[in-house]
Amino acid sequence: MIKYSYIKVRSALSTSKLPDIRYAFNPYVGCAHGCIYCYAPDLCKRYREVSYRWGSVVLVKENVVDVLREEVRRLKPGVVGISTITDPYQPIERDEEITRDSIRMLSQQGFRISIQTKSPLILRDLDLIKAKNFDVGFTITTLRDNLAREIEPNAPPPTQRAKAAYEIAEHDIDTWIFLGPIIPLINEYEEIIEEVVEFASSINSYIIYDKMNVKPLMSYNMRMKWRLKVDVNEVIGLSVDPNYFKKISELVRNLCKKYYVKCLPAFNAST
Ligand code: SF4
Repeated sequence: MIKYSYIKVRSALSTSKLPDIRYAFNPYVGCAHGCIYCYAPDLCKRYREVSYRWGSVVLVKENVVDVLREEVRRLKPGVVGISTITDPYQPIERDEEITRDSIRMLSQQGFRISIQTKSPLILRDLDLIKAKNFDVGFTITTLRDNLAREIEPNAPPPTQRAKAAYEIAEHDIDTWIFLGPIIPLINEYEEIIEEVVEFASSINSYIIYDKMNVKPLMSYNMRMKWRLKVDVNEVIGLSVDPNYFKKISELVRNLCKKYYVKCLPAFNAST
């Protein structure tokens, strides 16, 4: 059961440190998808209940569209990442339509929009996304629904995401697959990664891959939610070992080469 509350905010866009993204826009605080590896709790610490009960508490920024309207009048257009620490198409978006109203406004004002989601709900907004100034990324850590259920308990199954990605790509929209995080002893295996790369190839998409970003609250939440048979301490230990990720990066790059898929490390992936 998710607890929803409504808050008012004073700003809508924040400056982003991500490569090629000038602004970040997050319509909600918290995320009902509740992925056990999510590092966003460490970035939302001022909302203690959200961070410590990640996936169970979501704050809806009820005035954010009005605030955004004011901001876009005075800000220089640039690429807006939607979203960086929440999923813009988590279930509450079906009713609230904050993401929908925001992307419409940003697009009309000449901002380029880069969306990242795990939800096929994005298809509802295809009418807007078909404009030339969008790209869409789907996070797919594995195409195996049963494995995804263990690490992304409330997110739509990856097979549904893949169908949505296929449909978006069919409309000639720039589509990418975020293969991340690659979690040691969980989804690091060649056959699991190859399935994702092969899928990316089938829709002419490219791959952005990432390691697991270990942070204090992220580790706390992961330990609390861990139900897998593998030792969570070993998983976390390997994640912070640079040699481990070098090896995984090589594997991803080789698989991408095999399928002629362009592949890039995410901003913080040291290869
Ligand atoms: S969908 Fe993204 S923001 Fe939401 S819990 Fe999962 S990783 Fe975090």
